[in-house]
Amino acid sequence: METVACNLCGSDRYHVVYKMPDRKFFREDFFTVVECERCGLGFVNPRPTLSEIQKYYPAKYYHGPPTKSHERYLNRRFSAEASFLKVLENGEGSKRLLDVGCANGDFPRFMAARGWEVEGVENAESSQRIKDFRVYTEEFDRIPVHEPRYDAVTAWAVLEHVHDPTAYFQKASDVVKKGGLFVFLVQNFQSVASRCLFCEDVPRHLYFFTRETVKRYLEKTGFALEKEVNGRKIYKLAPYNWLGFMVRTWLFGKKYEFRDAPLTSKEFRSVHNLRPGLVTALKYAAYSPTMVVDRMLWPLIETVQILRKTYGISTFVGRKL
Ligand SMILES: [Zn+2]
Repeated sequence: METVACNLCGSDRYHVVYKMPDRKFFREDFFTVVECERCGLGFVNPRPTLSEIQKYYPAKYYHGPPTKSHERYLNRRFSAEASFLKVLENGEGSKRLLDVGCANGDFPRFMAARGWEVEGVENAESSQRIKDFRVYTEEFDRIPVHEPRYDAVTAWAVLEHVHDPTAYFQKASDVVKKGGLFVFLVQNFQSVASRCLFCEDVPRHLYFFTRETVKRYLEKTGFALEKEVNGRKIYKLAPYNWLGFMVRTWLFGKKYEFRDAPLTSKEFRSVHNLRPGLVTALKYAAYSPTMVVDRMLWPLIETVQILRKTYGISTFVGRKL
């Protein structure tokens, strides 16, 4: 483990926001999320080093089920992602896109079908080899491209995973043409899901951003923040146990800690070795009745959050100056 200073402003003054374990794979490993007192950046500190973090990305982390409904979901997601690049699609010639964290390449392929020249970056060892377009396998900041070559760089749910976000913003600035776009999606550290409800995928998520910290990252690397879209069209961050949290903190004035958060239904099945089904659903309802009500309230709560721009996910567009 290593202790680090703030990646955005260099300050080593920060306070603890919450502690939680790796909910997915190593439930006994606890981590502390802190917030920089100078700039407000959130980060895991201390954190696993670059080599230690490998343990937290087991092969099963990458395996998505290739089902029909998954395909439909991906198509909706890619359309929502592509909408951010539409402003570049007018005008002469084809445009060049670099997708950072391109996994098995489906998003660049989707954009290639819309007439883009595409390349990708993917350094996860477990991802499949891509043969139909160029993919760099280094960390993004180490790829052998040093001049402004792309009309757009995209990074969907990537920046929260890296050890040095500044290096990624700087590299994006180096390789995006003047007037081009850096489009990226991150969680919103001001949302109740990210900040209070233990919904973050710690320690795979190492950094937690807000509009203010994103703006500062962009400005220090030669971009202007052009747009923020807060919402659930690309990825979701459900306000899990929002109701339990409100009852405990508002009604009873108590602190809400990780041990107060009920298991998710998926965690419940895995802990008790149950198969999905009606009996399991009933057992879960008996285990956590408030979760059943909570779940019914999600659409309402999420809609209010999106209207107030406090939903757990934001996509940002930076324009290269
Ligand atoms: Zn800072």
